Amino acid sequence: MGIPAGERICSKIDEIAGELWRTSLFLHEHPETGYKEFQARDALVRAASSYGFEVAEGAGGVGTAFRAERSGAAQGPKVAFLAEYDALPEIGHACGHNLIASASLGAAAALGSLADELSGSVLLVGTPAEEGGGGKLRLIEGGVFKDVDFALMFHPGVKNLICRTTLARRAISVEFRGVKAHSKESWKGVDALQAVLELFRMIDGFRSTMRDRTLIHGCVTDGGKIAGINDRAAAHFSVRARTMQDLEIAMERIRRAISAAEMVTGASATFVEGETLKERLPNRSMALRFREKLRALGEDASFPDAYEPAGSSDAGNLSHELPLIHPYLKITDRSISSHTEEFAEAAKSERAREVMILAAKALALTGYDLLTDHEFRRRAERDFKERIPCCSMGACDEEGGSR
Ligand SMILES: [Zn+2]
Ligand SMILES: [Zn+2]
Repeated sequence: MGIPAGERICSKIDEIAGELWRTSLFLHEHPETGYKEFQARDALVRAASSYGFEVAEGAGGVGTAFRAERSGAAQGPKVAFLAEYDALPEIGHACGHNLIASASLGAAAALGSLADELSGSVLLVGTPAEEGGGGKLRLIEGGVFKDVDFALMFHPGVKNLICRTTLARRAISVEFRGVKAHSKESWKGVDALQAVLELFRMIDGFRSTMRDRTLIHGCVTDGGKIAGINDRAAAHFSVRARTMQDLEIAMERIRRAISAAEMVTGASATFVEGETLKERLPNRSMALRFREKLRALGEDASFPDAYEPAGSSDAGNLSHELPLIHPYLKITDRSISSHTEEFAEAAKSERAREVMILAAKALALTGYDLLTDHEFRRRAERDFKERIPCCSMGACDEEGGSR
């Protein structure tokens, strides 16, 4: 009897832990924002090649993306670990993506080292520009995930959480055109600013009838230049909702409010809607398996509170394409928020190093099960196909019941 695969996976990660941490710190010290992550890409591509992966750079036509693959002994499913590596302007790695990159690199390297005894492939996909760039949308469009069966990553945070969802999101910018008039003859004009103000009033009016967690935030981007009748005014709104259906309902009401503002004021509107981030649907079976691995490694994770605040992420769109998990592991005990200087500090701490190694192990062990446990794989696929919620609001069950 040889050494069990799980033990070999963990020893491999321990063996390369120094390299993984150096990569993580290198990214932290050289923060690059979305679509400009050249040094990060090069560092990860170099490392993946040294671990025996075949690397294709510029995956999906995105310059700073890559797709690294190590094929097993026979055909089988393709399991991808996702590496995010973009930083934020000014505050660097304040979302800790340096840790995501090195944990996924470690998981891929360790699981890949068993390739000769596996059916299927291990992938490391470099996914740029998560922070506002929608990098994963470009990679989906570019066919990077077409043949991929499962995707896994972890995200650093302030709590250990599985099954955390994110909100669907779309922005809309609207411009109203009116007729300029001098205030002494204001009745000759059509006030574009009035149309913007009417729009805000209507949105405030229907806010209370929106589904729970539908959030509409706006700003006036052009309120006119003079205190008279202005012929141009503009506003920008960010719309978030729990599901794509709720998002579409909110968008339709905003479009109708725009028409109503035109009708009331006589101004004419043009509007542009931005791209859509879909809500994230974490895969239930994979999330529970990840937690099992975490527990075996001496840590634990819980389901989020029903009202845990959630942002939006391009991983949401990917979770509509294939079974995906995106658990959170805490890198600090302080109750700080990501996207702050404190979080950037935490992302290079000793604690962050330990968590990154733990994440690499739990991800790799979950990936191993996906490649070798047919029954588990079938359940994960069924959860995905039937869109079985990982955790619906207020109905999170500690043992993952309610199915
Ligand atoms: Zn972030
Ligand atoms: Zn992030």
